[in-house]
Amino acid sequence: MQLTVPYHLENFIGGHFVGPASGNFINNINPATGEVYGQIPDSHSKDIEAAVKASKKAFAEWSNMPVEKRSAILNKIADLIDENIDELAIAETTDNGKPLWLSKKMDIPRASSNFRFFATGILHVATETHAMESDGFNYTLRQPIGIVGCISPWNLPLYLFTWKIAPALAAGNCVIAKPSEVTPVTAYLLGKICQEAGLPDGVLNIVHGTGTNCGEAIVKNTDIKAISFTGSTKAGERIAAIAAPMFKKLSLELGGKNPSIIFADCNWDKMMAETIRSSFSNQGQICLCTSRILIEKKIYEKFKTEFVEKVKQLTVGDPFDDSSNQGAIVSKPHFDKLMHCIHTAKAEGGTILCGGNAIQLDGKFAGGFFIEPTVIENLGPSCTTNQEEIFGPVVTLQPFDSEAEALQLANASHYGLAACIWTQDISVAHRLAANIQSGICWVNCWLVRDLRTPFGGMKNSGVGREGGWEALRFFTETKNICIQL
Ligand code: NAD
Repeated sequence: MQLTVPYHLENFIGGHFVGPASGNFINNINPATGEVYGQIPDSHSKDIEAAVKASKKAFAEWSNMPVEKRSAILNKIADLIDENIDELAIAETTDNGKPLWLSKKMDIPRASSNFRFFATGILHVATETHAMESDGFNYTLRQPIGIVGCISPWNLPLYLFTWKIAPALAAGNCVIAKPSEVTPVTAYLLGKICQEAGLPDGVLNIVHGTGTNCGEAIVKNTDIKAISFTGSTKAGERIAAIAAPMFKKLSLELGGKNPSIIFADCNWDKMMAETIRSSFSNQGQICLCTSRILIEKKIYEKFKTEFVEKVKQLTVGDPFDDSSNQGAIVSKPHFDKLMHCIHTAKAEGGTILCGGNAIQLDGKFAGGFFIEPTVIENLGPSCTTNQEEIFGPVVTLQPFDSEAEALQLANASHYGLAACIWTQDISVAHRLAANIQSGICWVNCWLVRDLRTPFGGMKNSGVGREGGWEALRFFTETKNICIQL
């Protein structure tokens, strides 16, 4: 499983590792050092056509395979992910810059859970019948779509890649999947795992490259009937524009600008610890991270003082050092974007309470991309900083007077992905949870995940839901059959 650095990744097509048709490669950079440490295929439509050809060959065998056998292969993939957790976690951390302890605790275990969850889920699928009053009935079939495309981002690379691939395969589809070009290595290693697990050739094809060349070739290919995409709202908009006239099924999991609403009666210690975690986990690069903290006015100063004091204690450094709370920002372009956002916050009158600067480390990390965890106040709800997704270790604080104002601030966004509510008053919690415009609402917790629940966003945070039966429904065609007796 281990790669020799500098490596030369290949696409996984038809069960074999092959170079890109163009012969061109893209540099892959370690964000903690800033150094090129490998190369990945720069794939285009020719590579996607080869993957489609392989999928067409594989579809009949895979979609007709007895469900127990399909389930056993997917469970074997989960077992092999667990067996290779150390190598996969090292690859994820090197590629993404996130702390190794986080890759081991969250990313890689979740990837195997994704496979295990859907491998066992398909053993329990039941569909509906609708009996008619006198002379007949209807029954529903949910059949695999055929060939589907899965496109994923860099923030939780293997975690989100498998969150799409596992239900798509479990439902009996063949898959053409593209990981982010910024974090391709664990996806490449997943190809090796699939070979070892006995996944038939061509059932899963993993193609590497940029969004514009490789991603768009997946979206434009007429044999690929559904697209499951997680990434930025901007790319989601482009994908929707291409796919809609082709009547492809679309699942779009996009950006967020998530509020955390904190009331004076909350469980203080738990709220404080979880708000630090929800704001800065994975360098703030989780779509579900809190970015706007809304605080009841009477505890605003107390919250600010303690929060800032605790944020200042967060350590940023070597991702392989277990004492680092935060590692590197994923790439130079993203680092530059974050520094620009902090500059904008200052320019529009924000007060930086802590952080706000790049961190220059020594030695082998001198060329790495590190930023201080940053807390900002004195900005209103309509300014750029509180409207645009930043997707980094940057949060703002805003006070509110009443439940009504908290709701107004929470909903003052084009996004609607996730929200947190911190209160001991169950009526307030229920009222707010029902009225907040977001697909996910956590009360007195954050990122507690049950894979059976619907996952996704409202407004500019996306279309459709992943998770549980929602994912299996997305990756199947529903057919009604009416029988008259
Ligand atoms: P991105 O949109 O730049 O890229 C995501 C993936 O799409 C990559 O594989 C990329 O190569 C590909 N891509 C880009 N343009 C494309 C196009 N025109 N056609 C086809 N594919 C294209 O996003 P990113 O920077 O990798 O990830 C960060 C974003 O992802 C943030 O906005 C974050 O909120 C979002 N995100 C959302 C969720 C969610 O569940 N809602 C989860 C994680 C990340």
